[in-house]
Amino acid sequence: MNRFRMFMMGRYGTDQLSMALLILGMTLSFVAETFSSSIITLLSYIVFFICIYRIMSRDIALRSQENYKFLRIWSPINKTLQSKVNMLKGRKYYKYFKCPSCKQMIRAPKGKGKIAVTCPKCKNKFIKQT
Ligand SMILES: [Zn+2]
Repeated sequence: MNRFRMFMMGRYGTDQLSMALLILGMTLSFVAETFSSSIITLLSYIVFFICIYRIMSRDIALRSQENYKFLRIWSPINKTLQSKVNMLKGRKYYKYFKCPSCKQMIRAPKGKGKIAVTCPKCKNKFIKQT
């Protein structure tokens, strides 16, 4: 264990971009196996190589910069996906709708009949059936 720690000393290690590349590589190899495509297999090897190269790299500043650029693209997508997942999880107990004036997503408990809703963003008041 100490030898591994010595080997990894001064190296970048894993980050969100490395994990995304790992998942992309695994997805590509699964797709390549499904369609028995050698081009996609080669592509998955390239992605795995880039992933390992980033983890073993000693240029920490450049790898951090790459990860930062990746997160600037990925974070809004991840946030949208997470809110969709939360909406799916909560659809049994909550009703989701948009504010008619500012399009803000609002949730209200289900089965309460007609309720007066005040938008938390623009303070617009409207009646909604839940
Ligand atoms: Zn609103």
